Amino acid sequence: MDINYNTDVIVVGAGPCGVSAALEVARGGKKVVLIDRAKYAGSKNMYGGAIYKTALQEIFQEDFETLPYERIINSHSWAFLTDTGSCSITFQDETNSEAYAIKRFNLEKWMIEIAKKKGVYFAPNTLVKKLIQKDGYVVGVETELEEYYAPIVILADGVNSLLAKELNLREKYQPKDVILSVKETIKLDKKTIEERFNLKEDLTNGVTKMYLGNPKDTNAIFMMGFLYTFKDTLMLGVGANLADLAKNKLNINDLLEYLKNHNDIKPLIKDGQILEYSAHLIPETGYNKMPKLTDNGVIIAGDAAGFINSVHFEGTNYALISGKLAGKTALSALENSNYSQGFLSLYKKELDKSFILKDLYTYRNIIDRLYDRRSSIMNYYPYKIKEFFEIVTSANCKSKSVQFRNYLLSFLKDRNLKELVKDGFAAFRCVLDIFFGR
Ligand SMILES: Cc1cc2nc3c(=O)[nH]c(=O)nc-3n(C[C@H](O)[C@H](O)[C@H](O)COP(=O)(O)OP(=O)(O)OC[C@H]3O[C@@H](n4cnc5c(N)ncnc54)[C@H](O)[C@@H]3O)c2cc1C
Repeated sequence: MDINYNTDVIVVGAGPCGVSAALEVARGGKKVVLIDRAKYAGSKNMYGGAIYKTALQEIFQEDFETLPYERIINSHSWAFLTDTGSCSITFQDETNSEAYAIKRFNLEKWMIEIAKKKGVYFAPNTLVKKLIQKDGYVVGVETELEEYYAPIVILADGVNSLLAKELNLREKYQPKDVILSVKETIKLDKKTIEERFNLKEDLTNGVTKMYLGNPKDTNAIFMMGFLYTFKDTLMLGVGANLADLAKNKLNINDLLEYLKNHNDIKPLIKDGQILEYSAHLIPETGYNKMPKLTDNGVIIAGDAAGFINSVHFEGTNYALISGKLAGKTALSALENSNYSQGFLSLYKKELDKSFILKDLYTYRNIIDRLYDRRSSIMNYYPYKIKEFFEIVTSANCKSKSVQFRNYLLSFLKDRNLKELVKDGFAAFRCVLDIFFGR
């Protein structure tokens, strides 16, 4: 092909995925241009708050030591909410240091500085408008200002990936395929956070809380709230399935207000000042709706490919590692001067060997199974857990046997047997999915 390439690889999107891909290419000694539409790296991005050590160490190696995190998160709790209270499980261990609370802006700034030092050319404030194609191959990108040409383009442009859609690499998302999420950054002084969450001054511990359960008068909505402790801010947010929100004519903000006024959460955020409000989508397409990952001259990675495991709140690690594998594939293609879809399918083989496609395969039906049973998970069992603990904790001078018997029989009274069997079957199949996963 007669094209004047001005670089070896173009990466669109400077989130964790794009930076990791660009870094891999630069480490391989090739020229790479990393493009992002945001004026400042990270200013268009949003997440809950935790990034994970193993993937960071793999990508940033010795530079990991300089990560500007705010707290190490070593207390994780999951709470089932009822309108008036909650039942929660906490896992807390100071030796557990996989998750770090870090603001997205600081994370991206740090990642890009490292990438630039390793030779990545970074073009901020540059929107990629379309891909340039010739003879059936992607050969570059057109931005508002100029055109860049390279034999390989890596799409790391996040959940909306208009460029992947342009190439028909993936289908248009349906509302059920995405979670709409909103988050507030709430300022409190450091000491108040430490007192409220029982944290140390030296920032060596931090907390994350996940909340499940719908407001009582709401139809079943697949939703999850989250709260992360930072140095002198809290991140409080909620995500809900877009189809459920639309069906119930509910605004996601109503769910955030519900959490903010809940007895469990209100005291934790009391007197906090809202610094920031942001919204973002999370793909839930998973393994079954995975896009075509490569085409002639192009590779797709990170959120753009739907690589996320929302059951475990993992996304940045999928983005970092898939970016690295995309970069590695680009290097092999350059070495062999072969940019065809056939050659680039090496990327899928690499992903298959990694935790990314193993886990996405294992969880391929779990989200749908949980989604189908959302009325039980969100509207029914939180209240049955509450009833159970009311019996366990009430010294009400009534026969425990009678109370527990009535409690067990109440499952049949207020829920028909068919629904209970479906719940049990769904739970059992989730366990089997994990046991027989890859
Ligand atoms: C509410 C919420 C909470 C989350 N919590 C967590 C968590 O706690 N831990 C975790 O690991 N993950 C979490 N995630 C998921 C995580 O944020 C994503 O998986 C991760 O950011 C994906 O990285 P990425 O690089 O693929 O995409 P992104 O981070 O979305 O980056 C895409 C980049 O592409 C740029 N871009 C897009 N289009 C163009 C274009 N046409 N031209 C130029 N640039 C473009 C954007 O500006 C952006 O910088 C959360 C997500 C949400 C929404």
